[in-house]
Amino acid sequence: FHPDSQSISYTTLSRFPPVKLLSPSQRKRILVTGGAGFVGSHLVDRLMILGHEVTVLDNFFTGSKTTVSHWVGHPNFEMVRHDVVEPFMIELNHLTILPRNIPPCMPCLPSHYQFNSVKTIKTSFMGTLNMLGLAKRTKARFLISSTSEVYGDPEVHPQHEDYWGHVNPIGPRACYDEGKRVAETLTYGFHRQDGVDVRVARIFNTYVPRICILISSTVNPFDGRVVSNFIVQALRGEDMTVYGDGKQTRSFQYIHDLVDGLIALMNSDETRPVNLGNGDEFTIGEFAELVRDIVEKVQREDGVEPRRVNIIYKPMPTDDPQKRRPDTTRAKQTLQWEPRWTVRMGLEEMVRYYKAKMVEGSL
Ligand code: NAD
Ligand code: UDP
Repeated sequence: FHPDSQSISYTTLSRFPPVKLLSPSQRKRILVTGGAGFVGSHLVDRLMILGHEVTVLDNFFTGSKTTVSHWVGHPNFEMVRHDVVEPFMIELNHLTILPRNIPPCMPCLPSHYQFNSVKTIKTSFMGTLNMLGLAKRTKARFLISSTSEVYGDPEVHPQHEDYWGHVNPIGPRACYDEGKRVAETLTYGFHRQDGVDVRVARIFNTYVPRICILISSTVNPFDGRVVSNFIVQALRGEDMTVYGDGKQTRSFQYIHDLVDGLIALMNSDETRPVNLGNGDEFTIGEFAELVRDIVEKVQREDGVEPRRVNIIYKPMPTDDPQKRRPDTTRAKQTLQWEPRWTVRMGLEEMVRYYKAKMVEGSL
């Protein structure tokens, strides 16, 4: 992200990216829980560049200090190791809650996932409860990153915000899906009962160029979801693994669009849930071919003759939704937001990012 306004003055402290100069009344104190994760760290970058004071709260379970380490030492930045299931005291204006607590590679590592399923729902429930209590005391505006998973395996297509969803409450995904549903219920409970000023973003599949250097060797440095899996497999010349018959669909948005949407939502008066996602829908089989083509194109541009990798099929994970595409009418009407990155543009940037990381030896 590069600030593009000509009329804004920026301050540069030599070893940091330039940040906008705001007067004390314009500058917000913002807490980002889960700020060291894939989405959180990009949001933190943008909030810092916009000139706000940002505190990251993270237990570094799936995130890593390296994702925001470029801000350490900046006077507007603070990082705290803390678990949101425990209460936390701070004074602030805005609060953004992003913890996810799903171990990457969930379908490949059922033991890991089952081991953490209680923690996943605890993070959603108790973490959201604690942060809503904090927002109530400080009168901070509260934004929760909910998910398209609240729609489960949807019977309505595309999914609009008034659809109540179709979730298996006892399946292996339930700790995440039901966790987010109860987090939304809590959010609206505090809104109605205590007047907490809330914003609810229902985020659809988002891909993010960032790796997390984790101490735990069981977790991948990339997020282990389909976009990064396919890119890393194709770049390494390995088989690309499609789960099931590849006919299930997803719609993929690039992180910069999501960050635009989260900030637009935070600055709006919209207290109802808002879908943030890209409406371009692909079957996973088609998507594997698209990623393979883009990886080959980038390799050719870099003077390497690519070797065509195979697409292979593996068993479908339990309760994997058959289709998913956001209806973003509400976001367009109330936030004047719509995605600006086509999937092809975003994927090319992702491929170049992962390629550079491989060359540098981080992957
Ligand atoms: P992520 O795992 O990269 O980030 C989550 C962060 O929260 C990590 O830094 C992790 O260490 C931290 N965390 C987890 N449990 C915590 C706890 N108990 N206390 C403190 N910190 C904790 O995930 P992400 O992809 O960046 O997702 C961020 C948010 O966006 C999540 O709430 C997720 O549900 C939501 N979301 C993401 C997507 C997507 O496609 N990436 C889609 C829908 C919703
Ligand atoms: N998927 C796949 N191969 C992979 C990883 C995922 O075919 O290596 C499929 C997965 O089964 C799902 C889709 O891609 O149908 C999106 O998976 P992801 O975990 O990225 O997101 P979610 O299922 O949460 O939408």
